[in-house]
Amino acid sequence: MIRRARRIPARTGLTLWYMLLLTVSMLALGGAGLWSIQRVLYTSADELLMTRAAAVMTEIDYERGRLNVELASEPDQPPSALTAGLDIVRVWDRNRRTRFRQETVQELPDPASETLAAILSERDIATFRTISKPSGEFIRSYIAPIRDDGRIVGVLEVGRSLGDIEAVLAQLRWLGAAGLVVVLLIGWFGGSFLAARALAPVDRITRAASEIGADDLSRRLNLMLPDDELGRLSAAFDGMIDRLDRAFRRQRQFTADASHELRTPLAIIRSQAEVALGRQREPAYYSRVLDSICEETERLERLTENLLLLARVDDGPDDLIPRFELLDLEDLALDLGSRMATRAHERGVVLDMDINPVGPIHGQADWMSQLLLNLLDNAVRYTPAGGRVTLALTTEGGQAVVRVADTGIGIAPEHLSRIFERFYRVDQARSRASGGAGLGLAICARVTRLHGGHLDVTSTLGEGATFTVRLPLASWPAPTPDALGALPATV
Ligand code: ADP
Repeated sequence: MIRRARRIPARTGLTLWYMLLLTVSMLALGGAGLWSIQRVLYTSADELLMTRAAAVMTEIDYERGRLNVELASEPDQPPSALTAGLDIVRVWDRNRRTRFRQETVQELPDPASETLAAILSERDIATFRTISKPSGEFIRSYIAPIRDDGRIVGVLEVGRSLGDIEAVLAQLRWLGAAGLVVVLLIGWFGGSFLAARALAPVDRITRAASEIGADDLSRRLNLMLPDDELGRLSAAFDGMIDRLDRAFRRQRQFTADASHELRTPLAIIRSQAEVALGRQREPAYYSRVLDSICEETERLERLTENLLLLARVDDGPDDLIPRFELLDLEDLALDLGSRMATRAHERGVVLDMDINPVGPIHGQADWMSQLLLNLLDNAVRYTPAGGRVTLALTTEGGQAVVRVADTGIGIAPEHLSRIFERFYRVDQARSRASGGAGLGLAICARVTRLHGGHLDVTSTLGEGATFTVRLPLASWPAPTPDALGALPATV
């Protein structure tokens, strides 16, 4: 599936996300702050109006059914200190006749007659209202009953402009908006700086990775990063290059070894043919040359067969395990042992068998035969005449154990760990003479591991060697391709 390329670069994208988060949090915090300040200011304005109304009430008398308002009402007199700062002071008597009126702004509507009636009839105790001035400013007023000995004798309205509160709030809004712009600017530059800093190692990884070519896998990123996501990415990348490097080296080594092995018999065949064709020879000479050519061709055949086997076994568990079946090792061991006994006998070696019933294993018959054949063939090959080879089959700890022991030349300790490597031979000349290319044990090890088993060797130089194959019995879970997928390409 072709993905559409991202249009926004990662750095800008991160910065934009950062800005979005910043804006949302600023708006939420600023909005909540402004709302609570507004509430406090309006509540205290209402409380102030109630206090002022109570003060004004002290100047209102009720005598003989008449309300007397002792506040300055003449236009040329200065307003009483009690009404200073108030934009509305209105007093009505029980009959809703105006007894006092002091207003800083004309044309402010009176409260609705129902409001006055409700207060006079004690349906409402007191009420607030907000009136808008023609200038757009708001006036808040408090309308409350005037009592004399607990009886309602009139209504008082005091009002004050909310202009100062509005001004404070407007200033706060401006400050908030300006603050938001400043924070967003800082956020843009800071966010883009932080994003650049955070992405810098990715850039370094990309640059270093693009400099590593397929032919130069010895290079590593080697970035000294902390143990975080990027540090682990860089380490994982180095680990991957390391594995690729080893796999490539092994592959190169394998190709070089294989070509070397193929070249030697081919060179022998060619030189012998050239010498024979150089001049007229006796028929016996030609016969010797043809014999030798046949021998070399057989060696080539064996080598290519083994290379083919390795290639097939290297195809991995996915290819091999589906072909696993329940396999009777007793039958297999008896069959191969008897076949090998003839060959051993020809070489003056005795082959003993100690085959016990072990129950079936999950396996592939051809590969298992190849494994046992290689071990028996080696045992017979590296055991001088008069020696003894033993093939034993038993069970140990829930595993089938095949043991091939010989009383042959043995293997020196320094070679023991390496004989399972491909093309590794202890004695080049002797192995070559006997036709071995150093692939037999590599195939054995790989086949054993594909069957979920283990192959090891013990040996004392000059006294013989014992190869032990341990394989899980079929009563145990069969190996799965997943479980064996982690096997190295070569063993
Ligand atoms: P080759 O085909 O050369 O025998 P192998 O992979 O089968 O290759 O064996 C690798 C080397 O291990 C051989 O060259 C040989 O020196 C040594 N080796 C294997 N089996 C035995 C054995 N039973 N006794 C002594 N040496 C052995």
